Amino acid sequence: MHCHSNDPLDLGTHRGLTVVTLGVAAGPAIRGPENGIATAIVVDDRFYLVDFGLGCTRAAHEAGLRGQRLAGMFITHLHSDHVAELPSYLLFNWGRPVEGLESPVPVIGPGPDTGRADGSLAGSRELVDSILKAFSYDLDIRIQDEGRPELGRLLEVMELEDSFDAPTVVFEDSHVRVHATSVDHPPVHPAYAYRFETAHGSVTISGDTTFSPALIELARETDLLVHEAVNIDFYRGKGFSGAFLNHQLQSHTTPADAGRVAALSGARQLVLSHLAGRAEDSWWTAQAASTYAGPVTVAKSGMALRPGARAAAQPSKDVE
Ligand SMILES: [Zn+2]
Ligand SMILES: [Zn+2]
Repeated sequence: MHCHSNDPLDLGTHRGLTVVTLGVAAGPAIRGPENGIATAIVVDDRFYLVDFGLGCTRAAHEAGLRGQRLAGMFITHLHSDHVAELPSYLLFNWGRPVEGLESPVPVIGPGPDTGRADGSLAGSRELVDSILKAFSYDLDIRIQDEGRPELGRLLEVMELEDSFDAPTVVFEDSHVRVHATSVDHPPVHPAYAYRFETAHGSVTISGDTTFSPALIELARETDLLVHEAVNIDFYRGKGFSGAFLNHQLQSHTTPADAGRVAALSGARQLVLSHLAGRAEDSWWTAQAASTYAGPVTVAKSGMALRPGARAAAQPSKDVE
């Protein structure tokens, strides 16, 4: 059902739906070899990115993904482990010399948290604008010196509404329709999960969330559910504070509860990612399998998965 391959994709010939778990670690902490959270949804000759954790720039390159094929960028929420590498990703995927962005792409993410500091803290738009400002010297030089396009004009930032009670279409093009729903990741607001519908199947990305009924609705009958998971015992065993453990319990999901979400939504396959705290793969899998009868995969950085294999068995619609 999936292959763990380091062979880069060739988007010139790629057809169907492939999900690449570019990075699978929660953070901001380095507790092992895995990259920080980032997921690519590859549809035919283009791809979409969800979150920009530490290591995503190199991981995307090694997966064969180049900015010139990027069709959308999505941010689940503004915890730094999800956006820390956005600056590098943009700077290393910009313009023809690096097979980077040449035409505008949407950047879709949360607006400012209206409940904190009177809404004065940066949302997605200010995040992007600040990156452009911080690197204005380099950007200006490369525009003149190398004839690169103006990066700011290639990024069409769209901030989402504060909360969606039900799955809501936030983006649509010829290859995907993307729904978002608000998830429960206190004290972070807004926080979103995204579902990508394609002609080859669907994939749902949980973002960071505790057990969330809204996510069950979003993931209804999805072909592949990428769900976050935390091993609380890892932190308990290391003597983390009660407040820290409480945060983990209230705003993240145990693998058994991730399995519950998969079972209740009727997801056809569960992938555990954004792994917080370390454990053997067999532990993660057994926990999820205690509540979910379908296939469970523990994501690794660079793992390529092919959901919707039933679609692949049908005659290709891409030859037109
Ligand atoms: Zn996170
Ligand atoms: Zn978070």
